[in-house]
Amino acid sequence: MKSDKPSASTTKPLANDVTALNPSNHANRSGRLAQGAVFAGVAGEIALHQLSIPKPAESEVLVRVSGCTICGSDLHSFHGRRTVPVPTILGHEIVGEIVDIGGTSARIDLEGRELQCGDRVTWAIMANCGACDLCRRDLPQKCLHGFKYGHEPFRPGRELSGGLAEYCLLVPGTSIVRLPEELPLAVACPASCATATIAAALEAAGDLTGRTVCLIGAGMLGLTACAMSRVKGAAKVVSVDPVSARRNLAIEFGATRTSDPDDLPAVAMEEVGTLGFDVVVELSGNPAAFQLVWPLIRTGGILVLVGSVFPGPSIPIALEQVVRRHLTIRGIHNYAPRHLLEAVKFLSLAHTQYPFARLVSEWIPLTSIADAFRHGSHPDAIRVGVYSTDASHHVSAS
Ligand SMILES: [Zn+2]
Ligand SMILES: [Zn+2]
Repeated sequence: MKSDKPSASTTKPLANDVTALNPSNHANRSGRLAQGAVFAGVAGEIALHQLSIPKPAESEVLVRVSGCTICGSDLHSFHGRRTVPVPTILGHEIVGEIVDIGGTSARIDLEGRELQCGDRVTWAIMANCGACDLCRRDLPQKCLHGFKYGHEPFRPGRELSGGLAEYCLLVPGTSIVRLPEELPLAVACPASCATATIAAALEAAGDLTGRTVCLIGAGMLGLTACAMSRVKGAAKVVSVDPVSARRNLAIEFGATRTSDPDDLPAVAMEEVGTLGFDVVVELSGNPAAFQLVWPLIRTGGILVLVGSVFPGPSIPIALEQVVRRHLTIRGIHNYAPRHLLEAVKFLSLAHTQYPFARLVSEWIPLTSIADAFRHGSHPDAIRVGVYSTDASHHVSAS
């Protein structure tokens, strides 16, 4: 695990040569180079660089990236709406193939099976130490010494820490899941961010059997939540989004009803009457959504907050309402390893019933990375995938 996390830096210009990015005096170099898309902190700019491929040390695993889908938080970082330590390799919805396992001890996946070179895998966004105060309190996703893929600044030997590169080095403490061969790349990539986060959010919501669920936002998270809520037995799933194309998609993903935000009070009255929803999950990050759904939660109901991951305006809450209505409010950020395992199992079954593969609208080669961010920023795009030409057969096969 890392110990000396550099603080966020600003827009230091990057020299466009290998030695500037790769201090060659570090011991763990394989002598081979790989392409990586480096974000140096200048909004809207990303550039390919040649980076040294590390030789994995004990408990490390080297993966050749098959594909990486660009998540909303990658777009926020790229456009400068979110501070990220730089230089860095973005991308954390990654699928790859193990090409080297460091050391001599066996490396075990989340199901207890020994990993081998050639295995097709994904892994948890946060590697955790297992020993800190938060890991020991069942919050490995908030590990005090965590290593977060697609969010780490360069350190000698650990530059390849994101999905927008040909290779990624998995550090000790990474929870790895082997993927079924038949799971298409487009379906598998979002497992390690969107799908696992929804698994964590719905676990926090409790037993959904026969429940009425309202989901605010119908992007990747909201659509995944529609399908997973239905699979978990929810009786009614109302998906709320201002974009009609997304509401139509929500129906394909199992929503029993959709609503524009403005219509929600009337739709809620028709669906759940004056009782209100058992569960509301906020996935949009829009503070106005809270005001909208707050009166629509039933007495004893639960509100799970997921979308508000950036600082925003404060929202007034009448505490008397929380008391008298027996309300529960839960915040969920990232997920624990068990949620990733659940996500992969869920996708393996659900992708034949719900059109997850269609949510990745196009695949763009790593060599055209600027195009990938441009296309991914289009409001109609749920996800755009990036592959290295080296791994193009994985994309065409799915
Ligand atoms: Zn993400
Ligand atoms: Zn820890």
